[in-house]
Amino acid sequence: MLRKIEHLGIAVTSISESLHLFEALLGTSCYKVEEVDSEHVKTAFLQIGESKIELLEATDPSSPIAKYLEKKGQGIHHIAFEVEDIEAEISRLKNEGFELIHQSAKDGADNKLIAFLHPRSTEGVLVELCQEKTL
Ligand code: ZN
Repeated sequence: MLRKIEHLGIAVTSISESLHLFEALLGTSCYKVEEVDSEHVKTAFLQIGESKIELLEATDPSSPIAKYLEKKGQGIHHIAFEVEDIEAEISRLKNEGFELIHQSAKDGADNKLIAFLHPRSTEGVLVELCQEKTL
């Protein structure tokens, strides 16, 4: 079950250059900066109500974010839905015919298990599923 929009991911060339703009826009400060080595990205999170904005910067030319910036430039990169049970949701969506980039959940930023759907199967929208990790 999808619960809500957890965050929107925005690709930027440089978090250090763009963060002040988003802090001024949203009237709040970034609460976390975190690198996800497996994806070669650096992330910065800002909270607005129940949702978040995630800024994404490439840490390596092989990063999916580097490729995205090259093709499309800065802007909205993905939409992330919070799910109750990510593995159940992955199976449900596979059964519905969606193409998953990740066949099972993996570690993401901000204490989440994540999986991405391929934008080929979602009208060009990159969709992330995320589930809060329980400790
Ligand atoms: Zn995300």
